Amino acid sequence: MSILDERLAKYTLPQECMEKGIYPYFREIEGKQGTEVEMGGHKVLMFGSNAYTGLTGDDRVIEAGVEAMRKYGSGCAGSRFLNGTLDIHVQLEKELAEYVGKDEALCFATGFTVNSGVIPQLVGREDYIICDDRDHASIVDGRRLSFATCLKYKHNDMEDLERQLQKCSPKSVKLIVVDGVFSMEGDLCNLPEIVKLKHKYDATILVDEAHGLGVFGRDGRGVCDYFGLTDEVDLIMGTFSKSLASIGGFIAANKTIINWLRHNARTYIFSASATPAATACAREAIRILKNEPERLAHLWEVTNYALKRFREEGFEIGDTQSPIIPLYVRDVEKTFMVTAKAFEEGVFINPVIPPACAPQDTLVRFALMANHTIEEVERGVQILAKVFKELDVIK
Ligand code: PMP
Repeated sequence: MSILDERLAKYTLPQECMEKGIYPYFREIEGKQGTEVEMGGHKVLMFGSNAYTGLTGDDRVIEAGVEAMRKYGSGCAGSRFLNGTLDIHVQLEKELAEYVGKDEALCFATGFTVNSGVIPQLVGREDYIICDDRDHASIVDGRRLSFATCLKYKHNDMEDLERQLQKCSPKSVKLIVVDGVFSMEGDLCNLPEIVKLKHKYDATILVDEAHGLGVFGRDGRGVCDYFGLTDEVDLIMGTFSKSLASIGGFIAANKTIINWLRHNARTYIFSASATPAATACAREAIRILKNEPERLAHLWEVTNYALKRFREEGFEIGDTQSPIIPLYVRDVEKTFMVTAKAFEEGVFINPVIPPACAPQDTLVRFALMANHTIEEVERGVQILAKVFKELDVIK
């Protein structure tokens, strides 16, 4: 056994969970991700998806992808910098810039590579990156890839953010990077206060709109739009893997920033461009969101219904303000047990354990989509209430 093998052999948590029959990962879905999916011949209600707009199975989105694949082929065989730029990439970038309210946008192959490629490229050795301690892993990795000094503030604690800003030298770049909607807890960043601090300390703000797009703001333009603060935020990042029913990501900002990133962001230059199908699907999803505000209205209707019902049933749901509803369990093994039992009973939800949260904050994440019906939500709540009671998580 090599030293590496010996070390990795100690990692036995997955096997232990499999032996107990509570291993929750890599379940195979045998079809489109609607509100109901089939897994191993077993039908379950899907409350574990990030497709808040419910567009991944939409015929128009699918048709747009199929058409693009016919016209442009299956892949681009190169990076945007060289041979990988299609006219539809450029059109999508223009549409995204207009949608989120910035001068220009750049599309990347995934949202993860936006954060990991953009963040380190905006700061040098003399500069600072300041993050909320619950920011997404892609932001953490972007921070790690930089030469800047990294500072963290306690989740949504604006006094702590100010303390961190006070540590920075006045002439440096101070890049505040924050999730607009926190992906596990569903609460929002305190953007109005962050903007005030930006002005006081001459900082720069990047907001990750992964979970805000398609959910908040006019036609789903995101949390910055919802707060009316788009012009105060310097960079807006988003992903296509959630509300835009595809895969890919983007950064939007003023012309000067985009010009720099277009020629320097390493994950943009040294990684292949998004596939024609993925690009066309995202474009169609944006078109639908702009034309069908009723989708957003229904998403909020089912969200508000679920929030009310979970509270009535006595669940602990934290400070969520979005279609992401954390159901706190506060014990790792029990979180897996809840997930497994809910699955048996017909509900798919996601367990959230460290490092995605603190050990005492384990939860299952229940997420709504615009195509859920009130009846489906009610069925989901009732099944989960039964499971949580049986396992003594709630009374
Ligand atoms: N930012 C946040 C807040 C996310 O939740 C995610 C995905 N879970 C990403 C970025 C990365 O996006 P993608 O899935 O497109 O790589």
